[in-house]
Amino acid sequence: MLIDLHTHSTASDGTDSPAGLVVAAVEAGVQALAITDHDTTAGWARAGEQAEVSGVLLVPGAEVSCRVRGVTVHLLSYLHDPAEPVLSETLAASRDIRLSRARTMAELLGRDFPITWEDVLAQAAQGATVGRPHVADALVAAGVVADRDEAFAGLLADGSPYVVHHGAPHPVVAVQRVRAAGGVPVIAHALAAARGKVVGEDVLEEMVAAGLAGVEVDHRDHTAADREWLRGFARAHDLVTTGSSDYHGTGKQNRLAENSTSPDDLHRLLAQASGTRPFGELGALA
Ligand code: AMP
Ligand code: FE
Ligand code: FE
Ligand code: ZN
Repeated sequence: MLIDLHTHSTASDGTDSPAGLVVAAVEAGVQALAITDHDTTAGWARAGEQAEVSGVLLVPGAEVSCRVRGVTVHLLSYLHDPAEPVLSETLAASRDIRLSRARTMAELLGRDFPITWEDVLAQAAQGATVGRPHVADALVAAGVVADRDEAFAGLLADGSPYVVHHGAPHPVVAVQRVRAAGGVPVIAHALAAARGKVVGEDVLEEMVAAGLAGVEVDHRDHTAADREWLRGFARAHDLVTTGSSDYHGTGKQNRLAENSTSPDDLHRLLAQASGTRPFGELGALA
């Protein structure tokens, strides 16, 4: 059984529409997937409708941006109540601050390259959470780089003079807010040093104390040693472990279901949720 609990659509920085993402997942043989766009639930309804048509289980989720002592943390939230005000305002604030931050990056780049803020906005779907991938797409459209990978390897890498980071909630606060909204919090790619600085065990322990439900273990940015350490950490704290693709469509090499979560772990996550219900058929998983 293929279960992929971390994917992106055009509601953030993926290239498949929410419905197209579900269709692509079915084509890849996936029986259950989660839509986890950055800081938004805007794709849920359209992905959910398609899941019902396609006969696949769709777990509505989001990837919540967090920051602690200059380190970015991504917290997956599954099945939270999208109308709960504190979490939904947290996500809205992140979308806002991401807009002004992307605008600053566009202006910095515009001094040296032929791109404008309007060019960046033109790369994002209406209302989408704007991120560096959209800035990368504008650089591609302007002929400055060949693809997103080239942009992230240079002009948009962490530490580049053109990159500005945005403020975001402390991961412990985010865990609390996800739980308070009836959601199930799982930390994404916690040890992926290839992506930038990662948090220490102290922060992970604090997140567990605040209600963390699980850790994403099988992710392409984790080494074998990272996975082994995270499995041990999960065992010690009785946490769910997941495996996911972090699919972004054509914008990234990650392929749907390149990693998978066990049915047992999915059931453990579903059992902890009280915010909203999955779309599509649960029966198929029995
Ligand atoms: P931001 O959240 O705006 O700082 O941008 C980071 C996002 O860029 C994450 O969602 C990553 O998935 C994405 N990303 C990182 N590296 C790459 C890459 N090489 N190609 C495409 N997307 C990337
Ligand atoms: Fe992304
Ligand atoms: Fe992430
Ligand atoms: Zn992601």
